[in-house]
Amino acid sequence: MSLADSNPCLDCGACCASFRVSFYWSEAEARGLPAELTEQVNAWFSCMGGTNQARPHCVALEGAVGEAVSCRVYVQRPSPCREVEAGDGQCAKARARHGLPAILCE
Ligand code: SF4
Ligand code: SF4
Repeated sequence: MSLADSNPCLDCGACCASFRVSFYWSEAEARGLPAELTEQVNAWFSCMGGTNQARPHCVALEGAVGEAVSCRVYVQRPSPCREVEAGDGQCAKARARHGLPAILCE
């Protein structure tokens, strides 16, 4: 699949339901991320609500993983969400957790 043809994230969302999405606490305020959608991890770090648990699932994720999804706070999403890219190692790990095949970028 060519990433130029379509955005595979729109029918995936696996990385929003696989890992703890944590960031330095002040990032939420700096990006305008609503505090009620975040959880405090420790004195320095916060995370997206719902991601600090055995079966992570971000509270901002709407839709069904592997079908059709969207992020309620896409513009304000924290740095970990911006770093993962379709087709990278983190993506492949997340998709495998949900029984989805890895994405080939070429
Ligand atoms: S796991 Fe990969 S394809 Fe799925 S939403 Fe995350 S970056 Fe996109
Ligand atoms: S904030 Fe948005 S992009 Fe980040 S994990 Fe949650 S749903 Fe996914």
